[in-house]
Amino acid sequence: MNEAHGRKPSEGFKKNRADMEIRPPFFPITTRGTIIPMKIFYTDTFTFNLPEGHRFPAKKYSLLRQLVEESSLIPAENLQIPKPAKDEELLRVHTPEYFRRVKEGLLTEKEIRRIGLPWSTELVERSYRSVGATIAACRAALEDGIAASLSGGTHHAHADHGGGYCIFNDAAVAVRAMQAEGRIERAVILDCDVHQGDGTASIFAQDPSVFTFSIHGDRNYPFQKPPSDLDIALPDGTGDETYCEALDVGLEQALDQADADLAIYLAGADPYEDDHFGRLALTKDGLIKRDQMVLEACKGRGIPTAVVMSGGYARKIEDVAEIHFNTVRLTTKIQIE
Ligand SMILES: [Zn+2]
Repeated sequence: MNEAHGRKPSEGFKKNRADMEIRPPFFPITTRGTIIPMKIFYTDTFTFNLPEGHRFPAKKYSLLRQLVEESSLIPAENLQIPKPAKDEELLRVHTPEYFRRVKEGLLTEKEIRRIGLPWSTELVERSYRSVGATIAACRAALEDGIAASLSGGTHHAHADHGGGYCIFNDAAVAVRAMQAEGRIERAVILDCDVHQGDGTASIFAQDPSVFTFSIHGDRNYPFQKPPSDLDIALPDGTGDETYCEALDVGLEQALDQADADLAIYLAGADPYEDDHFGRLALTKDGLIKRDQMVLEACKGRGIPTAVVMSGGYARKIEDVAEIHFNTVRLTTKIQIE
């Protein structure tokens, strides 16, 4: 069940800590003694057309934002629309050929089928914004300790192709952006979406500065799973207790080996027991416990953390929004406590 793959990043990219800037404190306190409220980025206002009855749960994003707005968890001005990702940022991860064909609407029918969303200029804009939200959340996390995007987690996008509702790989682009801006050297991707993070694993396969961890359903999409640095593949029907035990082991190993300056947490809602695609059997409380474990582990090690939502296909869309909202609520509490 618990399989460490390949290299040991801590050996490949060891940096002399004395040369590095001191990290910002994880939970910065202002001079007035109050804690800076976290920033949250959203992209649901960039809508795109889907055919009637399409499985992609587009509505969950606006439902989630509504819950966040109504909750007053953060001041209204901290709930922000991100700038779109820049072409040069996307091109640090994606091949020029794939990037150009996405942008110009020249993807083949086969490629569009693999992505599972019909191409449109609106979809391209949404994808740029969704990556922009993860970049913005990473910058904010590095300043404030923690931040979130209400979208993102498009981990099935590879350098030269998309897949599984994913066009660009937001976490990969964001990590490379933070590195290029000199904000970080090392990162860890904590992928708790029920589907394996194949795109992220393949993009960073040869990059010892980024540790990829994925805990997922063994029999789920994608059926070819290029190895992450650490994969934990769970059998169908895995419930709260077994999941959390496995996660505990995985988190410790991932964070030990990663020695990261930044974590990106993919908090997929799809390990939920009533998820259409998930095959696992976590309860809503189990998912809260999962979030708590990930966030506490990062906090305990002083690793700034950007939280992104990733997948969620529960039969009732309100359940998906609620699970994501629970993640966001916990994220703000973790900061305040
Ligand atoms: Zn998923």
